[in-house]
Amino acid sequence: MDMHHVTDLLNIVDLIRSGKARTRRDIGTALSMRSTSVSELVGTLTAGGLLTETIVSSSGRGRPAAALTFNAQRFGAILISVVDLTLVARTIDMDFHIRDEIVATPPEDVGNEQMAATIHDLVTTLMARFPAGVEPGVVVLSLAGLLDVAQGVWCVSSRWPNLCNLELEHAFPDLQAPVHMIRNLDAELLGLRLDRQATTDESNILLLHWGYGIGAAYANGDTVVNRMTGRFCEIGHWSLGNSRGRACTCGNTDCLETVAALWAISPALQTTCPDLPLTEKALAAELRRVDLPEVPALEEAVTQMLLLTTNLCRLLFPERIILTGPFVQHPEIFRRFVEAIASAPLLKSLDRIRVSVSEFVPRDEINGALHQPFEDLLLRHVTHLQHSTAVDA
Ligand SMILES: [Zn+2]
Repeated sequence: MDMHHVTDLLNIVDLIRSGKARTRRDIGTALSMRSTSVSELVGTLTAGGLLTETIVSSSGRGRPAAALTFNAQRFGAILISVVDLTLVARTIDMDFHIRDEIVATPPEDVGNEQMAATIHDLVTTLMARFPAGVEPGVVVLSLAGLLDVAQGVWCVSSRWPNLCNLELEHAFPDLQAPVHMIRNLDAELLGLRLDRQATTDESNILLLHWGYGIGAAYANGDTVVNRMTGRFCEIGHWSLGNSRGRACTCGNTDCLETVAALWAISPALQTTCPDLPLTEKALAAELRRVDLPEVPALEEAVTQMLLLTTNLCRLLFPERIILTGPFVQHPEIFRRFVEAIASAPLLKSLDRIRVSVSEFVPRDEINGALHQPFEDLLLRHVTHLQHSTAVDA
């Protein structure tokens, strides 16, 4: 196999996909390549459906110019995410745009078999709705809880306590696409790292999610810590040791989540503010009209979250903390985070830790979960094209 040829093909795809080149001439200039070589390679890519070439009207004499575009719908990915107690399945094109979306809400006592069947149904339903010409390229499961990424196993999720070591990566041999798995917070942090504007030059970044559950992810440089094992920072299940005996969804008692997670404080929120919606997305929009002192349960949750966050900072010493989830969208709660970190002993003597809130959009999780699978898919497809061309020749 001619890897040099494969690299040329990938470079051309990258130039067109990123908008750095539009024509064969642009490619020749950017890669210092003869026009006959460019023609041959572009021919391979258009035949393989990755590029399309359209003649744009030419003014004056000479040959009309042909514009090349990346065919973001050559392949589609299916991404399954966890939102509250719902599985959201989306079809995503190679420009990372959402093309289709369906949801399923498994019962809280769902077991392995039923959860596997639900995921399988979501994937096959979306695949059947793919437009003609779009090939299923990869299925990515972006999941909450503890995973074994290497083995493709969803080990534990406190949302569905009856799940136990559910094998997913090799469970669906009938699917026409490989199945991969990533922890949802790792995907979101990877997406934020890829979006350089969000994190600029910082190398140590802590992502803290406070919502239905509580968890974190941590990046050192471009490496998201423990991404390949799929288990890290289960801070929601750190014990408070407060001897209240409150049962947690993980099977333990008196975890942080029992006083701060949305699932735990929902009843108290609803008692004080009966019309407050209790899903993460809706709550994010509505919570800001709530006065913190009016809701003692929320006050205690904030207190415990600030303690946790300042302690985590003394462990990880991040340069930036990115807060996500519905509660931190409340301006007063966000202000308290900033203040607690700025005034905490040991931390205040360092270069100031920057604190920001991430928007409540699925974009970062989508980009982080699919970036590498799409790169791998392109490499596989281009290698296959190069091989077919070489055999034909
Ligand atoms: Zn717990």
